Amino acid sequence: MLDGKAVAQQIFDDIATKVGARVAMGKPRPKLATVIVGDDPASALYVRSKQKNARQVGIDSVDHRLPTEASTEQLLELIGTLNRDESVSGILVQQPLPNHIDLVQVVIAVDPVKDVDGFHPYNAGLVAQGLPGGIEPCTPSGIVELLDRGGVRIEGANAVVVGRSNIVGKPTALLLLRRNATVTVCHTRTKDLAGHTRNADILVAAAGQPNLITKDMVKPGAAVVDVSANRADGTQVGDLGPGVEEVAGWLTPNPGGVGPMTRAMLVRNTYEAEVRRRP
Ligand code: NAP
Repeated sequence: MLDGKAVAQQIFDDIATKVGARVAMGKPRPKLATVIVGDDPASALYVRSKQKNARQVGIDSVDHRLPTEASTEQLLELIGTLNRDESVSGILVQQPLPNHIDLVQVVIAVDPVKDVDGFHPYNAGLVAQGLPGGIEPCTPSGIVELLDRGGVRIEGANAVVVGRSNIVGKPTALLLLRRNATVTVCHTRTKDLAGHTRNADILVAAAGQPNLITKDMVKPGAAVVDVSANRADGTQVGDLGPGVEEVAGWLTPNPGGVGPMTRAMLVRNTYEAEVRRRP
């Protein structure tokens, strides 16, 4: 088992110690500012969990809500205020945003040094070029951290990522490439998906399609990371079909795998953003 919950707890404990040490030196607590537009209950739940984790490690959090009908300009104005606020270490604008909001403008409006989601093209560009100094996106860096701490060898592995979104699939592929995996990215136009996945020593399923990855599509002994958070009958399921656990060598539980790691990376990014901005 690649136990995301347990590994995330280790990271929370580590950050709590570091935050405590900074506060003891008289430095300000890091602060996470979250923004939700609209009243999507799933977004509210995700943000509550992220704030709870931040508070648990001693990071302050402040929640901003805009109504569903808020304009792009109103959201940009709020982001500008948070960019200028000295006390704010990190800004998280929860996605999805209502359709009328210009997502690109929003993503580029967040100051890259406070972009704790790692979505700004400046940070994404550093990841793409394999350069240090930026902020890495939370879910992809959480996946790599989980593989590392689980003892999965990344260098030289055939890694197959199913999904190519800017927030999960693509950056996960780039982080694995940086670690010298041989990476294949699959998507809806991929011919013979199973032909690719059967070759994967590391298989990252991030398609958001329940039962997409069946047992016969998994190489025996592979490390399988089930990223997706699909809702079925009120519970969370990933992309894996029944029996994958019988062939996989490593497997993330779902829930309890990538989700907690994403939140742990957010907390870590917020702490590190604060340290970088105000050493
Ligand atoms: P997304 O933007 O909908 O992207 C899904 C990707 O999967 C797309 O690239 C799509 O291909 C590909 N895909 C869909 N169906 C496929 C199929 N049948 N065969 C091959 N590829 C297929 O979703 P996302 O934002 O990347 O998120 C992916 C999943 O991860 C979602 O379930 C989301 O809830 C979950 N998630 C979990 C966490 C966490 O912390 N656990 C964080 C973020 C996201 P095309 O590009 O061709 O359309």
